[in-house]
Amino acid sequence: MAGVPFRSALALRTRNDMSPMPRSRREVLVPAQALAALRRGLRVEAGPLAAAHALHAAGYAAGDSIFDMLSDSAGRPLTELSARRFWNYVSELLSRRGWGSLEHRDVPPALGLMASSDWAEAEATTEETQPSCHFTMGLLANLLGRVAGGAVSVLEVRCRACGDAECCFAFGSEAAIHALYGRLLDGQPFEEAAGAL
Ligand SMILES: [Zn+2]
Repeated sequence: MAGVPFRSALALRTRNDMSPMPRSRREVLVPAQALAALRRGLRVEAGPLAAAHALHAAGYAAGDSIFDMLSDSAGRPLTELSARRFWNYVSELLSRRGWGSLEHRDVPPALGLMASSDWAEAEATTEETQPSCHFTMGLLANLLGRVAGGAVSVLEVRCRACGDAECCFAFGSEAAIHALYGRLLDGQPFEEAAGAL
């Protein structure tokens, strides 16, 4: 940039920032415990609700790249895959990237569930008082919504970060997840609440 007046350089940067950001498949490896440290740091600096929203938004943005990577590995539109093959692709791709094993389960009549006994976002902590894998909830909401062609809501109903054996992500329509959330707040066990939807 030698010889370029500061004002011109600034104008150039502003123009670049305004252009659409290309979607990137570039990845970096970060120790899993950094996710818990990031959550703690955001909570201290911004408060619990803002921390949850920020992590959810970051996960949601990452869902775009994961969707593209899955499409690449499938070699055809994800919507053309059988449900079984789709879940296998999701599980395999995320596992290979260090997120952990992820198992899909149907929860009739209105929900699906993805469960993991070693999910990375809950690594190195059991100090939380409620499910805290916000990044993953955002990622799955975007990914599943894009495949479904409409909004999909995701709610983590069990989490290793608060001492549960598994992280369990329930997903379904906004109305179903909202109703589930209300029942869980009322103290109903998950299986009972999900079955009553
Ligand atoms: Zn979790």
